[in-house]
Amino acid sequence: MKAVKCSFCKGDVEPGTGLMFVKRDGTILYFCSSKCRRNMLELKRKPAEVKWARKGGGLSEGRRG
Ligand SMILES: [Zn+2]
Repeated sequence: MKAVKCSFCKGDVEPGTGLMFVKRDGTILYFCSSKCRRNMLELKRKPAEVKWARKGGGLSEGRRG
């Protein structure tokens, strides 16, 4: 399995640890964490609007989400 980038924060998704989501149109999204998945799919946030996502790492929690 090749390395992929998180579709939300663009951070590296380590093989075996990430989450994969297939949209109805066939687009495959990868997420480094459930936090990124939630922000993209449930909260409909854009990475540019989320400070922690711009840094390229969804693993360090921001206090304000
Ligand atoms: Zn991410």
